[in-house]
Amino acid sequence: MQIAKHRVVSIEYTLTDDEGTVLDTSRGREPLVYLHGVGAMIPGLEAALTDKVAGDALEVRVPPAEAYGERDDGLIQQARRSQLQGVPEVEVGMQFQASGPEGRQIVTVIAVDGDQVTLDANHPLAGVPLNFAVEVVSVRAATAQELQHGHIHGPHGHDH
Ligand code: ZN
Repeated sequence: MQIAKHRVVSIEYTLTDDEGTVLDTSRGREPLVYLHGVGAMIPGLEAALTDKVAGDALEVRVPPAEAYGERDDGLIQQARRSQLQGVPEVEVGMQFQASGPEGRQIVTVIAVDGDQVTLDANHPLAGVPLNFAVEVVSVRAATAQELQHGHIHGPHGHDH
């Protein structure tokens, strides 16, 4: 069965940056399972997986525009340490979740100067070309209920 819209796809993957640093991998964990064609997967990788079948292996380089977007300096903001409630010790490199206009986002502390804290709300992988080594583990049709919910169920999905 080929990968197409509304198929449930299971993949093993390793994600590296251009320096070869592993950013994420399914190795040693469960394969990643997702519903194809509904925006659950980053667009560049989803496009490359279309029409593939179980057992296929592929290497895909996804530019930022087809992954987590380009960096936006407008997402860098100043805050006062006192505004960061529940964060006792603010340090450069610290990441936490904040709710923004586009839902929950990861915010990274990029500078601390006295009471002034500089926050970067860019996705940590914004501006980063992504190199995926992917192996297709399985492909199946989604059930009517999965399509209704817009996500997968079953051993590796969520269960009701
Ligand atoms: Zn559901």
